[in-house]
Amino acid sequence: MERNDYWVVSPHADDAVLSAGALIHFLAEAGRSVGVFTIFAGHGRGERSPLALSAERLWGLGSDAVASRQREDQRACSRLGATVRFGESPDAVYRRDPTDGTPLYAHQHELFGEMHPHDRKATVQNVADELTELRANHAFLVPSAHGDHVDHRIAKHAAQLVLPDRQVWSYADLPYAESAGRRTFRGSTPSRGPVSDTDSYTVKLSAAAEYSSQLALVTGASTSRQALAIVSSWSERFTRGFAR
Ligand SMILES: [Zn+2]
Repeated sequence: MERNDYWVVSPHADDAVLSAGALIHFLAEAGRSVGVFTIFAGHGRGERSPLALSAERLWGLGSDAVASRQREDQRACSRLGATVRFGESPDAVYRRDPTDGTPLYAHQHELFGEMHPHDRKATVQNVADELTELRANHAFLVPSAHGDHVDHRIAKHAAQLVLPDRQVWSYADLPYAESAGRRTFRGSTPSRGPVSDTDSYTVKLSAAAEYSSQLALVTGASTSRQALAIVSSWSERFTRGFAR
């Protein structure tokens, strides 16, 4: 496994870029090597569940949505000057119980509810195993799990199990942190320095535009122009250690 100065742990293709894209670009411009590890980028097994099919319809990516989302992620990260590595676990909408083949989550709202026992044990462990292979000279940036999406909670939990506390910074999960977690997250946006760097925010927008399957969904906007205006209104926020 390659050693990077920074690893940004991204539950899905798009979380690292939307939540920390300006910082990633700033670090890369300063000559640091930055890797994005997109955890839930694997192919699911078996047939698509109704929830998976409806998600894929919304994304509008055709028959191999997983590969298409990887390509979007690849293009976005390369605009920021970062490399990307993909984990093998599938997105929650594709995961099934190995004992009886039933989908772990049948409805959209369940993705934000109780974690399925299979995820609590096996998926967390698989992700933790993948994270132990990452080596960072300086820091790991991990999600705070604002919004409570099960994949974000698994990412945070697995990171807590294996990443060295002293090297961890947490990022506010955007867009979720713009509403639910906004008042409780104690992270800061420095008024000077990396994350207020105007050029980096501009490059971040060009990277965000690569996620054409996701932008309308995460912003609620009807045109890509509106969606990018919304993304540009979000401020990236970080805090040392694991967020509570
Ligand atoms: Zn996500």
